[in-house]
Amino acid sequence: MAITHNLGFPRIGANRELKFALEAYWNKQASYDALNETAKRLRQTHLQQQSNLNYVPVGDFSLYDQVLDMSFTLGNVPERAQAKEANTLDQYFRVARGRSGHESDCQCVQAGEMTKWFDTNYHYIVPEVTADTDFSLDASRLLDQILEAQATHPQVKPVIIGPVTYLWLCKEKDSASKLDLLERLLPVYGELLNVLSQQGVEWVQIDEPILVTELDRDWVYAFHQAYHHLKSAPIKLLLTTYFGQLQENLQLACELPVAGLHLDAVNARDEVPRLVDWLPTHKILSLGVVNGRNIWKADLNSLLDWLEPVAARLKDRLWLAPSCSLLHVPVDLNKEQKLDSETTSWLSFALQKLEEIRLLAQAINHGRDSVADALAENAAAIASRKNSTRVHKAEVKNAISNITTTLGERNSHYKVRAEKQRSKLKLPAFPTTTIGSFPQTPEIRKVRQALRQGNLTEDEYQTLIEKEIRYSIEQQEALGLDVLVHGEAERNDMVEYFGEQLGGFVFTQFAWVQSYGSRCVKPPIILGDITRPKPMTVKWTQYAQSLTQKPMKGMLTGPVTILNWSFVRDDQPRKDTCLQLALAIREEVQDLEKAGVRIIQIDEAALREGLPLRRAQWQHYLDWAVESFRITANGVADDTQIHTHMCYSEFNDIIESIAHMDADVITIETSRSDMELLDVFDHFKYPNEIGPGVYDIHSPNIPSEQAIVELMNKAAQRVPADRLWVNPDCGLKTRKWEEVVPALKNMMSAAATLRQAA
Ligand code: GLN
Ligand code: ZN
Repeated sequence: MAITHNLGFPRIGANRELKFALEAYWNKQASYDALNETAKRLRQTHLQQQSNLNYVPVGDFSLYDQVLDMSFTLGNVPERAQAKEANTLDQYFRVARGRSGHESDCQCVQAGEMTKWFDTNYHYIVPEVTADTDFSLDASRLLDQILEAQATHPQVKPVIIGPVTYLWLCKEKDSASKLDLLERLLPVYGELLNVLSQQGVEWVQIDEPILVTELDRDWVYAFHQAYHHLKSAPIKLLLTTYFGQLQENLQLACELPVAGLHLDAVNARDEVPRLVDWLPTHKILSLGVVNGRNIWKADLNSLLDWLEPVAARLKDRLWLAPSCSLLHVPVDLNKEQKLDSETTSWLSFALQKLEEIRLLAQAINHGRDSVADALAENAAAIASRKNSTRVHKAEVKNAISNITTTLGERNSHYKVRAEKQRSKLKLPAFPTTTIGSFPQTPEIRKVRQALRQGNLTEDEYQTLIEKEIRYSIEQQEALGLDVLVHGEAERNDMVEYFGEQLGGFVFTQFAWVQSYGSRCVKPPIILGDITRPKPMTVKWTQYAQSLTQKPMKGMLTGPVTILNWSFVRDDQPRKDTCLQLALAIREEVQDLEKAGVRIIQIDEAALREGLPLRRAQWQHYLDWAVESFRITANGVADDTQIHTHMCYSEFNDIIESIAHMDADVITIETSRSDMELLDVFDHFKYPNEIGPGVYDIHSPNIPSEQAIVELMNKAAQRVPADRLWVNPDCGLKTRKWEEVVPALKNMMSAAATLRQAA
């Protein structure tokens, strides 16, 4: 008998109920009780929606973040948030969101740092430790959720983050060495497991996703130490890994003294035979057979072809689940009303994925005949996607196979190009520019919304957007900026804007996925081969250029960023999809050039985000990602200047690839690092031009001229001044004009000061 379970359910709610409840609570429009009421209702709904499973996860629900929850369970709360009068929930939100000086009852608290959860687009709050960190158990949140769930559902399986992964996620705030804390941490985990056992819990899911990464010997040793310590707990542990293959950690994962192991059998299917051979016979093997990271329907028949022999060997020891928590997919496909029926038949969100698990188990336990209709329907959907001309376009596949390395090469070396660009563009020293967007005012949003709702004709829309472009150009002219932008008023989002105009994408109405806290994203779906039916930005850029003598920067999103912020096809390598995007955006670059645009910026904000979990795979990714950028950008004449922009980036370990992109100018986010980010450009002797952001656009503060001059002087210690640009850290769309104008004014006078001194 195959047993079914789930690793975690999306908690934001099919209608983003949690988001709205949280925001109402934070804005003091709703009470603590109202927030709790919504949370409880969501948990009950989710429990009920998973009631077909043998084991339902509990404790996976979170008001903000599961890692922060674990920190509170372990009593690891930063001292700065432990204000005496605050209740636990207030402390919790203080760490999650910080508290700024404007609030009347303020005890200002800096928020915990946020970073990406492995290679997903979910962000967690980084736990902090010091050499003195002590842990103490607070199981109340988990116990409350267990009690609440047990009332209707006997077989609940609490989910916790394992001790080794927890420490690995921690950031040391002093000279502490995290692994030294393991001895202090383990007794608290032991206590927690005892408490859970007393609560009648049989199985605990203990997540150790770092088992799919390269581990130093110390960390391997920590695994042995941790699980030998915990083995005396009177409870069964399901050691849970996901997001990749175990590889050299496979033996370690088999040997640890636990009752069961969960493997991501989507990414690591090849490892299953060895696990079946090696896993001691008293352990169960849970296989994550349905992809918890994408929105595609699983091919149940071919999964069964593969699974049935595995099931025959494992018998009662086989469990089935999604590959990872369903946190990373939207809740319910049935909510979508605008997708055509064919597309719908190819997709599967959280609830549909759980149904796939149920069907697989039923077929294994009672024969395929018992679910014959469902399997036939599944086969038809899979076949229709495989053969669809909406998905497969011969001319696109042809173009990909005709790609040669020369496609990504500029005609001349940077030095030659720079000379030609200098005489064409005639820019002063320390040229000034912005990153692309200007404030997205309520009026602009209203205009776009009116078009979407059919309340404006295309012509009326064009007139209104042109008015916004005109305004932004007047402002830039008045400020005296050297390279202008049109301001991106027509763009809702830097990926969606392009996806909506490219062939091969579909968009959902409700497919929200949690990014962090109450923030959700609705990634587009790349469903088929990518085409570019017509120019996407040329009209706006040309209009903007017609209003000024200054050079107008064309503004595009690069292929790697579009890829990394979308749900991507699973029927071809990511690389192929990226190259298709590259060819499509390349056409746009060339049309901009033909239209007389002299400078083109191609944003690759998400380049770093795509790095694989294992270092050994980095180079392969970087190679095709950079090649995609080069194909997009480098088919232009020497005197056309290519810019790229990257935010949040740390360049130390990827500088060679960044240089290989060969953009004439790269603008980056550096102000918060006091220009230290430029060290690596210095050491590497990065050859092209750099615009190190001189002020943080995330804050409403107006930077002083002096602060900007000081930052630029620091930059000039690392990069020759004749290759430096002056610009903000990132786009200005989240700011107000009242903030933008004085900030840019100071930036302009800083540039003037720098020029005088030079
Ligand atoms: N051109 C974009 C903007 O200015 C870049 C945004 C980003 O890098 N995240 O908004
Ligand atoms: Zn940016």
